[in-house]
Amino acid sequence: MLVVMQAHATEEQVRAVCQKVEELGYRAHPMPGAQRTAIGITGNPREVEPSALEEMPGVQELIQVSKPYKLVSREVKEENTVIRFSGTDATIGGPGLAIMAGPCAIESREQAFAIAEHVHRAGAQFFRGGAYKPRTSPYSFQGLEEAGLRIMAEVREQYGMKIVTEAVDHESLALVEEYADVIQIGARNMQNFSLLKRAGRSKKPVMLKRGMSATLEEFLMAAEYIMSEGNYNVVLCERGVRTFADHTRNTLDLSVVPAVQRLSHLPIVVDPSHGTGKRNKVTPLSRAAVAVGADGLIIEVHHQPDKALSDGQQSLYPEQFEELMSQVRQIAPVVGRTVPGIGTHVSAAPVALSGAGSHPASGR
Ligand code: PEP
Ligand code: MN
Repeated sequence: MLVVMQAHATEEQVRAVCQKVEELGYRAHPMPGAQRTAIGITGNPREVEPSALEEMPGVQELIQVSKPYKLVSREVKEENTVIRFSGTDATIGGPGLAIMAGPCAIESREQAFAIAEHVHRAGAQFFRGGAYKPRTSPYSFQGLEEAGLRIMAEVREQYGMKIVTEAVDHESLALVEEYADVIQIGARNMQNFSLLKRAGRSKKPVMLKRGMSATLEEFLMAAEYIMSEGNYNVVLCERGVRTFADHTRNTLDLSVVPAVQRLSHLPIVVDPSHGTGKRNKVTPLSRAAVAVGADGLIIEVHHQPDKALSDGQQSLYPEQFEELMSQVRQIAPVVGRTVPGIGTHVSAAPVALSGAGSHPASGR
């Protein structure tokens, strides 16, 4: 159920309706919009009795939300959600594309800074990197944990990039939320409902990756879990799904982007690194993702992919990332988007890029 307030309803009237909703035993989610405020009502296993709310001052109408996901739905909030970050013009969901780049895993301070230097200079406003890695094998590198988070915080300090990093369970989430600007929930945890609820109680934005076999509805319901706990800053991320195709690690489902945008106000970014698993396919699919209308990209970059402790085969060389950015800058205006800021926050002297195309794998 959704309470639509009149355009001129006062804050006090909105508050009074929220209070009434809570008194009735439900949870109220006020969603201010450009035209009017709507109040989503959740936690209702049974139908909400409309009469108690209908007659309250400032209420225009009560609407039954037809979809199983409520707060995620455009029925509840028409305008796109734009996530803002203090101290930067970086947004997720605004006209500027959100470009997130960095290694799969933080391996050392030297590795993180070497990569950060490059991606920052190429224009990334978000630095990605895993400190907790959900690996298929328990014997693979599991991440530096808190030491990795500390390195990321240093990168933020140095370059002004916002930090995106994954939490794999409740314990890591408690630490990740202290350090990160965006908490990543990985594909393998998309239906870890207790973790989703915990992320929903965090004050930090959450990037939710699509599960490997998740339908669109399951994906949106997972986002609903986070929002139902009061965290409305949710970013969806398409990272490929399992299909019979074996020429790529996963099948990057770009058609989910317009499908999500039709049903939801939440931003959606695309991860062509995990989506293809192959370095030579990351740039073409990044171009396609921007063309299809994605709100951003998350790209794995490594200065020495052959030595990477995880996902080296899908990590771009820094100069390839630079080239990707230049291509994205050309495509973005065609679909009415911009690519904001090129690194201005550097507090160290820039290091020259090693010769473009000087390594055997740089060709497409
Ligand atoms: C990652 O971003 O490094 C990652 C593990 O992604 P996913 O959860 O999509 O596999
Ligand atoms: Mn990875």
